[in-house]
Amino acid sequence: MPKRPSLIVVANRLPVRRVGAGAGARWERSPGGLVSAMEPVLEQFGGTWVGWSGSPGRGPRPFWADNVRIVPVALSRRDEEHFYNGMSNRTFWPLYHDAVRTPEFNRQWWGAYVEVNRRFARAAARAARRGDVVWVHDYHLQLVPAMLRELKPDLRIGFFMHVPFPPEELFAWLPWRTDILRGLLGADLVGFQTQAAMQNFSRLARRYTTAVGTDSELEFGGRAVRCGSFPVSIDFDAFDALARDAEVVRDAESIRQRLGARRRVVLSVDRLDYTKGIEQRLSAYAELLATREVSADRCVLVQIAVPTRDPLPDYARIRASVEHAVGRINGEHASPGRVAVHYFRRSLTRRELVAWYVAADVMLVTPLRDGMNLVAKEYVACRTDNSGVLVLSEFAGAARELRRAVLVNPRDLDGMVAAISHALKMDADEAAQNMSLLRSVVRRHDVRFWAEGFLGALTA
Ligand code: UDP
Repeated sequence: MPKRPSLIVVANRLPVRRVGAGAGARWERSPGGLVSAMEPVLEQFGGTWVGWSGSPGRGPRPFWADNVRIVPVALSRRDEEHFYNGMSNRTFWPLYHDAVRTPEFNRQWWGAYVEVNRRFARAAARAARRGDVVWVHDYHLQLVPAMLRELKPDLRIGFFMHVPFPPEELFAWLPWRTDILRGLLGADLVGFQTQAAMQNFSRLARRYTTAVGTDSELEFGGRAVRCGSFPVSIDFDAFDALARDAEVVRDAESIRQRLGARRRVVLSVDRLDYTKGIEQRLSAYAELLATREVSADRCVLVQIAVPTRDPLPDYARIRASVEHAVGRINGEHASPGRVAVHYFRRSLTRRELVAWYVAADVMLVTPLRDGMNLVAKEYVACRTDNSGVLVLSEFAGAARELRRAVLVNPRDLDGMVAAISHALKMDADEAAQNMSLLRSVVRRHDVRFWAEGFLGALTA
């Protein structure tokens, strides 16, 4: 009997990271959207994960973590600088997020990007047997599909872009735009978070390569390349169950007591990234307090900011600016024993995070641009009693599905102030009606639905 094809995931980061040193060193699950999304898929299907450990150097030999074979790809310090910090995070990241920071174009970074993509493609080719299914993820590895196809034409190759895919006005800035499009067209299926991103890609492929066809069905180099929109999601049941866990409920209650039992709790959770709109959100909250419509006695904002990409100058700047804004708001509105904005710059475990979701009356998710935003879906999954209001940016992929959130334009200061105020005042019945509908959307379209949808389309 022929063996069932196995699944090979290729992503910049491994799903585990090394913590501790010497004899006490061990691997633990690493935080982040992609790992959260893929974890239940691999638990279910098993398979191989090809990726980088996150530290430069030779890297360990392949090993097993639960039922997943981990195949580390080594990156040198120079690769880290040019491929990861440079091309991935200073060129593609800002360019694909509406150029909210000016992308930098550097030929050395591009050289490293090509080289490292080839290394990933070779590692995937070695890990794959004939007929296997390879699922390549995200903007770090856009050349891998074509490189891998050249090495092993018999594989089924899928690519999923977790970040937005920009329109021609922005994408055309890229000196290597044709190489990137050809790289992606090496896949049998190219998936995006939204219909708009998929259309941008198909139009660009027709404009800058010899591809012909429709938005969802292209022909390139004598092969069919399908494109689709597959909004990524979360493990709804896992979050729902954790939010009902007695210890988590107690922790949530204790959070509320410590913040002040009678105060409304407004929460935000983001990586400390300039795409997340943290500064705009703080300005809106400051303005709301200044109107005296809401007072710091009755309401508290908690901003959890996860450290990220610390070596990059734009990230040092955003950190300074956020910390300055928090200081200013507290300077004006705090009183002894009562802080107006709590700011935690740290990474929380999932349990801790869920306790915060359960504690929060209002969740502000207001990025300037975001591929999806899983935090928004996680908050919804944790509102087991249908209470709570989600304020969500129109510029997050999640806004396409979560239509019953309070949708806002994060650059519209008046609109933001009005949205937060509206969320705080919303009548309990209306809030419950909205939350119940939001929950049914996320429950139905959970991470398994996403993975099965993509893999089903890839193997059909
Ligand atoms: N997260 C976490 N610990 C934290 C904060 C966030 O594990 O302290 C997780 C969160 O549960 C979510 C992911 O990080 O699954 C963030 O994904 P999202 O799509 O919201 O944003 P990204 O960071 O991928 O841009």
